Amino acid sequence: MELDLKLTGCRTITMDPARPAAHTIGIWQGRIAGLDEQVADLPAAETVDLGGAVVLPGFIDAHTHLAWNGRRTIDITGLATAAAVLDRLAGAPGTGWIEASGYDRRIMDSPLTAADLDRISGDRPVYVADLSGHACVVNSAVLRRLPEITSDGWLTENEQLAARTLRLPYSLDEITAELHESARQVLAEGVTMCAEAGIGAGLIASSPLEAAAYQRARLPIRVQLMVSAHVLHDVAADPADRIPRAIDLGLHTGFGDDMLSLGAMKLWTDGGMIARTAALTEPYAGTDNAGQLAESEELMRAAIVDGHHAGWQLAIHAIGDRAIDFTLDAVAEAQRQRPRPDARHRVEHCGLVRPDQLERIAALGLVPVVQPTFLHAYGDDYSEIMGEERAPWLYRGRSFLDRGITVAGSSDRPVADGAPLRAIEFMVRRRSSGGRAVGPDEAITVEEAIRAYTLGSAYACRKEHVLGSLTPGKLADLVVLGDDPRTSDAIADIPVLATMVGGAFSFQRSS
Ligand SMILES: [Zn+2]
Repeated sequence: MELDLKLTGCRTITMDPARPAAHTIGIWQGRIAGLDEQVADLPAAETVDLGGAVVLPGFIDAHTHLAWNGRRTIDITGLATAAAVLDRLAGAPGTGWIEASGYDRRIMDSPLTAADLDRISGDRPVYVADLSGHACVVNSAVLRRLPEITSDGWLTENEQLAARTLRLPYSLDEITAELHESARQVLAEGVTMCAEAGIGAGLIASSPLEAAAYQRARLPIRVQLMVSAHVLHDVAADPADRIPRAIDLGLHTGFGDDMLSLGAMKLWTDGGMIARTAALTEPYAGTDNAGQLAESEELMRAAIVDGHHAGWQLAIHAIGDRAIDFTLDAVAEAQRQRPRPDARHRVEHCGLVRPDQLERIAALGLVPVVQPTFLHAYGDDYSEIMGEERAPWLYRGRSFLDRGITVAGSSDRPVADGAPLRAIEFMVRRRSSGGRAVGPDEAITVEEAIRAYTLGSAYACRKEHVLGSLTPGKLADLVVLGDDPRTSDAIADIPVLATMVGGAFSFQRSS
């Protein structure tokens, strides 16, 4: 047997407890053929000496938004006055919609309004996306098309969705270009697989044909598509199947191949902390606002139960502790009606978990899919709005692991920075960009943080049998780093030298 490729001179952290380290990796037909002495005597078509570089399994981002991230909008990140925003938007090319992103209402000296936007827009509709993904500002040209809404331009949640719907759909060409842009970006950060968190309907959908764009794009990374629960519809299946609602053809989690597959069914039960719409049991500190559930409990419970019956893994967006209470009850009800021991339902974000909720999350086998970088970027703000008692409950790590809960790492890009090494550093250090300690008791070790971004996220995507560790027989996805995160003082700054997907280098850093 001749290997396709032999990597030598590696300091490999395999994440496989049976064999944690290796110096040589043999690759054949896109898979790991063996390590060290298993491949020492085999010839290889090509041998690459990595010169002592550190090799990890490729990072898996278990919750991200590739199309949204790659969208070419006008970036207004960091702008804090209406004048600065208008200056950036004025003279936007084209004749149709003017779309901007990166708006942060929290830093504005006074919030942007429709009247402000009208000054530069003429008849063109303007949509300024809040960085939370849960709100936007639109101009009067948009509001005129939404006569049922009374607003000064700031729209959240369902009102935002109404405005968004006016813009949709994007063309397959536009989406394909967005996907390639994002794939290029994530490969440079060591990511080899992404789970796209919600296609087909809802706030972040691009087109009813979105899956076709992924099929057409043939991306250089692996992608798993989560399907919005809003596309569930009644089906006339045999009553013995006990499947009242499904998507067309009965497709569900697991369909596809190693490059492109269907993942979980995505549901939203509340909003977000940035927009103060995450549903809490007690109000945001210093306010009487406790956020809101996304829809009626009855509708959301029906989607969870029906999705569970139809064989889906569920990915339930729940950020506030009230939304998590609801999620725990609804999943327990679904499991009572139809026990599925390895349903492996996920809680997307799982942002504010009260101590009494931890055991229930463990008992139901739920997988928290967390975004550590939220707290790096927004930890100061989140700590303030939660107050002293609740701040240590944000985006937990240690408390989950101590209860045997698998934690999956993710970015929610473009809501926050997508680099896995930054997220890993945060999970270990629990320091915000402002230097504040955020829930320091939730810190985990470097190995545990790497595990969350490799095996943990592979588990969340039901791919741990082929991904997540450098184990013979698994797919040859790996990242080559310039330093060892276990001994580095600045994990986020470690250079990503190369990224391999399926045995081929898809990214190599130009020196
Ligand atoms: Zn998301």
